[in-house]
Amino acid sequence: MATATEAARPEGRRHYRAGRRWLKRLARQDGNWRPSPQLARQDQAKHFAERDQALRCAHCGHAITHPNQAITVSGGHEHTFVNPAGLVFTVRLFRDTPGCRFHGQPSPEFSWFPGYLWRFALCGGCGRHLGWLFQGPADHFTALIAAAIREAE
Ligand SMILES: [Zn+2]
Repeated sequence: MATATEAARPEGRRHYRAGRRWLKRLARQDGNWRPSPQLARQDQAKHFAERDQALRCAHCGHAITHPNQAITVSGGHEHTFVNPAGLVFTVRLFRDTPGCRFHGQPSPEFSWFPGYLWRFALCGGCGRHLGWLFQGPADHFTALIAAAIREAE
């Protein structure tokens, strides 16, 4: 069954799968990464290039996700919302964010995406609040606060 977010995904499926493989490697290796002797020189160069593209926590530099996990929901990758306390957040949406850890019980209260429950998404490195995980009946994505993450330099 196709979901709204899958239908709107900007990248092709092959690109997306390659991104997921990369994220698995990243989750396993980030922090104490060293090139495996089995990797060919060319693969090492490619791997370094991929690591360089990571989106990172603006505070501590922990790798959070890869640009090819960017998705579009409700017509946009970037959304601006106001929370019940009146704070304005500009968020960017990503399918998987393996550098986050998630906190709290899934909540339907004031959900910015109808039908989705949310949890807090924290940096897996320093614990800063980076955004929210949204869980729907058939899919999930993370809304990262644009100002809390930084692009590769
Ligand atoms: Zn951090």
